[in-house]
Amino acid sequence: MERPSEKLLLNCSATDPNKILPMKYNWARKHYKDGVANNWTPEEVNMQKDVEMWKSPDALTSHERRLVLWNMGFFSTAESLTANNIVLTVYRHVTNPECRQYLLRQAFEEAIHTDTFIYCCDTLGLDPDDVYSMYMSIPSIKAKDDFVIDITKSILDPNFSTEGRENIQKFVHDLVGFYVIMEGIFFYAGFVMMLSFLRQNKMVGVGEQFQFILRDESVHLAFGCDLINNIVIENPEIWTEDFKATLVANIKRAVDLEHAYACDCLPKGILGLNADAIHQYVKYVADRRLERINLPKQYNVANPFPWMSEVIDLKKEKNFFETRVTEYKTGGVLSWEE
Ligand code: FE
Ligand code: MN
Repeated sequence: MERPSEKLLLNCSATDPNKILPMKYNWARKHYKDGVANNWTPEEVNMQKDVEMWKSPDALTSHERRLVLWNMGFFSTAESLTANNIVLTVYRHVTNPECRQYLLRQAFEEAIHTDTFIYCCDTLGLDPDDVYSMYMSIPSIKAKDDFVIDITKSILDPNFSTEGRENIQKFVHDLVGFYVIMEGIFFYAGFVMMLSFLRQNKMVGVGEQFQFILRDESVHLAFGCDLINNIVIENPEIWTEDFKATLVANIKRAVDLEHAYACDCLPKGILGLNADAIHQYVKYVADRRLERINLPKQYNVANPFPWMSEVIDLKKEKNFFETRVTEYKTGGVLSWEE
């Protein structure tokens, strides 16, 4: 039995949610510090070259434009969906103060990400009515958003509580939907497409914005996985074979939807990039997510884009892209989730 005064992640009425010290969950504190060390704003990135490229009639092919627009369409609304999930549902149920400090930081970063797409629309002169309706009008984007909404509906119920084994399972199920599937899988085909453009010196400002977002998202994912794993440690009775099988099935479905999205973004394939390679990358990423939350790998494929690991590593990045302009304040050693 837990001592009555012991801090717990869920259902902890014994300790005051305003008392962050003494600290128990140091991993949450570390993710908070990593987030702060990676502070940035979209206006730091110069968009001049992008504006020239976007407005020039022949600098980009119609397929390249489609790829940029489809990713704008998915990310512009996905960032707000994530922000709402954190603030309206996750924050309410995770009453632990160390985690809440991180969730407030994450919510701020999601506001920065929302701002990034406002900035991209403004600078490139995109029609916001087009971009912000793509989550409804483009079936491959709608399918991803619908799936996330479907697998996170328990905790959106205003009467939901985390009391009891079944409800804790529902909560962890939905956390896997937000953190592992939305932020850990559904963002990654877009990341690899836009960063591949950056490597080819195309839409370099947008590419840098995606690079910053990727860094933030890798910390969100790390926090989400630590939260999930520690809820399971504190509530081991929820981790049944049936429950694990449900989570694996959801992740496999997410890989299929992400593949369909990649095919739709890239109907023909373009230089260095085609939907098959992205599918393999998404499978590789999904295996890493599965292992991170102690579930069995499903695909066993190699990483077709090994350069993505370097993009995620802060220190290598300045040599890697010659376009860098922004200096980070951080001097600490950060380890990023891939
Ligand atoms: Fe985000
Ligand atoms: Mn996020």
